[in-house]
Amino acid sequence: MNPTYRGRLAPSPTGHLHLGHARTFWAAQERARAGGGILVLRNEDLDSTRFKMEFVDAMLEDLRWFGFEWSEGPDCGGPWGPYQQSERYSFYRAALEKLRAGHFIYPCTCSRRDIQAAVTAPHVENDAEPLYPGTCRDRQFSETQAPARFAWRFRVPEGEVISFTDGHCGEQAFVAGKDFGDFIVWRGDDVPAYQLACVADDAAMRITEVVRGADLLVSTARQILLYRALGWTPPQFYHCALMADDRGVRLAKRHDALSLRTLRERGETPEALRQNWA
Ligand code: GLU
Repeated sequence: MNPTYRGRLAPSPTGHLHLGHARTFWAAQERARAGGGILVLRNEDLDSTRFKMEFVDAMLEDLRWFGFEWSEGPDCGGPWGPYQQSERYSFYRAALEKLRAGHFIYPCTCSRRDIQAAVTAPHVENDAEPLYPGTCRDRQFSETQAPARFAWRFRVPEGEVISFTDGHCGEQAFVAGKDFGDFIVWRGDDVPAYQLACVADDAAMRITEVVRGADLLVSTARQILLYRALGWTPPQFYHCALMADDRGVRLAKRHDALSLRTLRERGETPEALRQNWA
């Protein structure tokens, strides 16, 4: 028997949700319904330097207004909680420890500026992360000279093709070391990085399919490597096309005119907004 479909919505409270989020989340909800499964809401409030409490409440309210229904989440609990990342550090620590014990990661002292100065741009469209030049890859730190501040970086298997079949975009293949490089799993300011938190949570929350924007296709390749290193089975993936404004610019949180809040204040209804979605 197939395991019950478990999908998730994973918004970050760094601004108001916009129509692009709603469209991707709607696809997630529809797929959960079609699969006879359930939807989990996870509040990705990991980065306290970027998120604001007011956005958390607004996020829940906007999602409900739009017609989203979840059966597990920060407001209603569930068997695999807590459902806010800020309360899940022990899960991330455990995953980090496992990666460290398996020698999959190494300490990196490079600042963003060091990397910018040395980098080549990634080859893949939509992926903003520069290719890490490998500066700290083979450095040896003894116990006594361990740097005060460092990040943990995942060593990617150079040249290996990471492939997967996406439920929406079809066959995908990314070359480690070319399309994406060694990536951060734990930041220098002691915050778990998105890639690690996402994998640790999707695994712990028994997510069977991840539905999200196509900007994260390359991240999926990174995450597949994390699943493998951690000895966990990856879920299925379904990446939706990103929504653009009338000038073709991809929607971002700064597009306030298309935030769900603004649309609602203008008297739009969720039904009308969804009308042209396939
Ligand atoms: N919080 C992430 C975002 O909003 C979630 C990405 C994902 O769905 O994995 O981009």
